Amino acid sequence: RLVLGIETSCDETGAAVMDETGLILGESLHSQKEVHLKTGGIIPTVAQRLHRENIGRIVQEAMERSGVTQSQLSAVATTVKPGLALSLGIGLDFSLNFVKLHQKPFIPIHHMEAHALTVRMLQPVVFPFLVLLVSGGHSLLALARGIDDFLLLGQTLDEAPGDTMDKVARRLSLIKHPKCSMISGGQAIEILARDGNRLKFLFKPPMGAHYDCNFSFAGLRNQVTMSIQKKEEEEGVEQGTLLSCVNDIAAATQHAVASHIAKRTHRAILFCKAKDLLPSCNPTLVVSGGVASNQYIRKILKIVTDTTGLHLLCPPSKFCTDNGVMIAWNGVERLREGKGILSHTEEVNYEPK
Ligand code: ATP
Ligand code: FE
Ligand code: MG
Repeated sequence: RLVLGIETSCDETGAAVMDETGLILGESLHSQKEVHLKTGGIIPTVAQRLHRENIGRIVQEAMERSGVTQSQLSAVATTVKPGLALSLGIGLDFSLNFVKLHQKPFIPIHHMEAHALTVRMLQPVVFPFLVLLVSGGHSLLALARGIDDFLLLGQTLDEAPGDTMDKVARRLSLIKHPKCSMISGGQAIEILARDGNRLKFLFKPPMGAHYDCNFSFAGLRNQVTMSIQKKEEEEGVEQGTLLSCVNDIAAATQHAVASHIAKRTHRAILFCKAKDLLPSCNPTLVVSGGVASNQYIRKILKIVTDTTGLHLLCPPSKFCTDNGVMIAWNGVERLREGKGILSHTEEVNYEPK
């Protein structure tokens, strides 16, 4: 059995063809990151136009590379939520036309569930396991109990950690920094932080008195912004032209984000242990999302899992960010279990958020 997976929830147009064992037969990906970096954020109508311009070619490329014909496909799996409504719509319209034309079953995919389960394509991880998803749009902790059974333990009350780092990077105009051209804000912060002293700036950790597993990054970002402003005034430089201490600010920001993520994850692990929700044999924490490629954050999470006796699994970066592969894999898993498969004549209802 062969599945075509299609992803257009945010700023990546992705497609992949996969066989039943999780083998990637062909894939293609178009990222809009550079365009959005230049405008300083995603403009939904621009994202929509770029998806529309690229989806046909991306799907065709993935199909051609796989050597699979449309009639050989067993199903088409496509992200239907959550994400930007305008972006999602392009993938969904394309897919519904495709399945009607070729009379194939359609499998609607939840983007976050796909992120959570991608690890199972790479190695056998048995349910239940704990998942931490940290990206530009999300921050959440959940217990994965089955391919369509997730217990949400906590999520961000305001913004996501990737978004926070992107905004700090923009406030510092890091895009103009020689070491940071054409990379995401999060990557820029990680690179600059290597040569910084995090102790030069102290940010108060968020949610000290919240005894749950939710996250909050907006207050932290506010503290960072105020420190930047103060430094700019002290040095008498214009906004976004600070040079002297950007490394220290990056290091302190990264540390604050990392320790908040680590503390909430630690709480979630203790909660799961207290409620006996994790298996006694090889309990696992899976980390995914763009922010999961941060080595400093991985290192702190490793300390958390080592001290609590959990096994830490971080898929390689290319499987942590958005692509068609993770959607195809979720389609394969659903096809295997016969869950959530629609016929090409069925109505698809979806809520973008
Ligand atoms: P979502 O998947 O939740 O819809 P998204 O598409 O913005 O959101 P991803 O593509 O998974 O998320 O990740 C992009 C985010 O990850 C950006 O905010 C980026 O700054 C951040 N990021 C990427 N690399 C790193 C890194 N090395 N350290 C920290 N953050 C990073
Ligand atoms: Fe994503
Ligand atoms: Mg993305």
